[in-house]
Amino acid sequence: MSKIAAKAAAVATENEKPTRSPIVVVMGHVDHGKTSLLDYIKKTNITAKEAGGITQSIGAYEVVHPPVGGRRLTFIDTPGHEAFSKMRSRGAKVADLAVLVVAADEGVKPQTKEAIRALKEAETTFVVAINKIDKNNADIERAKNELLQNEVLLEGYGGDVSFGLISAKTGEGVNELLDLLLLAADFEDLSYSPAAPARGIVIESKLDRRRGNEVMIVLKEGTLRSGEEIATETASGKVKILETFLGERVSELKPSSPAVIIGFESLPSVGEEFIAGAEAIKKDIHKAEAKPTSSAKRGDANKDELALRLIIKADVQGSLEVITDIVSALPQPEVKIRIMESRVGDITDGDVKQAIANSASIFGFRVGPTKAAEYLATANGVKIHSAEIIYDLVRIIEEEVNNLKSPKPLGVLEVLALFNQKSEKQLIGGKVVEGMIKIKAVMEIQRGEDVVGRGRVLSLRQAKKEVTIVEAGKECGFIFDSPVKIEVGDRLLYTP
Ligand code: GDP
Repeated sequence: MSKIAAKAAAVATENEKPTRSPIVVVMGHVDHGKTSLLDYIKKTNITAKEAGGITQSIGAYEVVHPPVGGRRLTFIDTPGHEAFSKMRSRGAKVADLAVLVVAADEGVKPQTKEAIRALKEAETTFVVAINKIDKNNADIERAKNELLQNEVLLEGYGGDVSFGLISAKTGEGVNELLDLLLLAADFEDLSYSPAAPARGIVIESKLDRRRGNEVMIVLKEGTLRSGEEIATETASGKVKILETFLGERVSELKPSSPAVIIGFESLPSVGEEFIAGAEAIKKDIHKAEAKPTSSAKRGDANKDELALRLIIKADVQGSLEVITDIVSALPQPEVKIRIMESRVGDITDGDVKQAIANSASIFGFRVGPTKAAEYLATANGVKIHSAEIIYDLVRIIEEEVNNLKSPKPLGVLEVLALFNQKSEKQLIGGKVVEGMIKIKAVMEIQRGEDVVGRGRVLSLRQAKKEVTIVEAGKECGFIFDSPVKIEVGDRLLYTP
């Protein structure tokens, strides 16, 4: 081949844009049959031998329709629109197409409407699946009418949204639904460049005790190879192990394959976009880092606003996602809730240092503090809360918000004795009756109903020993630096 011809061939390969299969998400109201539909498709369109290889859900799978000699479709195996909207909120569009499941016996319900809104906002092409047509009380016409009332203009009813009548239970109509999806895919521009750096979306990420950080992705562009460097905006690493959704080890993958990657040094968040290849990472991710991050994620550190700043730690990425979603959705009329950081793992002294720097509190879900973290937190008055149930954690957060609205002192001390008041540095004896007080704490002086001044704890002694904090129920002696002459019976309030 001449040099020119070789170059032309190389350019042609670079510009070659093969089509990729559609990535499909299933949405709709709870109990309308999303899981049943996904299960039915999984059962019938992945060959039995292969299906045996699926030992656990990795959040997405690939099917072939028809099962022999057919075309591929990738299904995101997270029913509900949570995954969809979460991914969308991060600016990444994971799904090329969606199936909107509406049960024929119930028709359009609140979450159906939410899904319709989300799909329209994202301008995602969708196909309607009117499900449960095997049921006696199925009312297909009512379901169609309600869809029309909600501006889903079905084909044959003045619009172009295709629909299928199905039973996820018996499988009736599911093949035709898959046909409709493939037809819709033909109208989308679904192609990729094999020579481009690999890109895709993180759909699940969790810590496996044996294998380490397991990150499930769907590939949307380029070719992903084992050994490549890989990064998202918040995490990076190297593809040490690359597996298909069936758990088979491979050396490379093409879009729109789902895959498991082992090799991230920390867990990326669900919905983040990843990119592979050192050059591409340098260009893309580092550019993204230079951009200001969203205020919801990092907090805008506006220290004057009334805000509860949180560092959330959890055992797995999945719980973390749910907690951050619930917390972000809490009403915040007076007190803003700022999630400064959310990570998987135990609460470490690093987290406490970050909490000190940001005046934040730490919330652990199914994780606790290390000894060093506990010590550092106690010494610096950083609050650490842990819970085993998500709603307990949310309740604690709500309590903290209420505390901020009408602040409760962190500690209250009753003055019992005065030893030396020759200067402003007064030597006082007292008993902590609530919470705790600590060295360097600024305390309000309450005399009867009035606040008569403020002062600062300079040194703190308990049973003749220098200490840094004294807890409720304990007596102590301390030097209090204040222009106000303290009296027996005064209450000193340690307010945050
Ligand atoms: P999801 O919450 O949308 O994922 O709904 P599920 O798939 O969990 O289904 C909810 C309930 O409806 C389950 O009890 C299913 O067995 C049932 N179901 C789902 N699809 C059908 C169907 O086509 N026909 C009938 N009769 N029941 C169905």
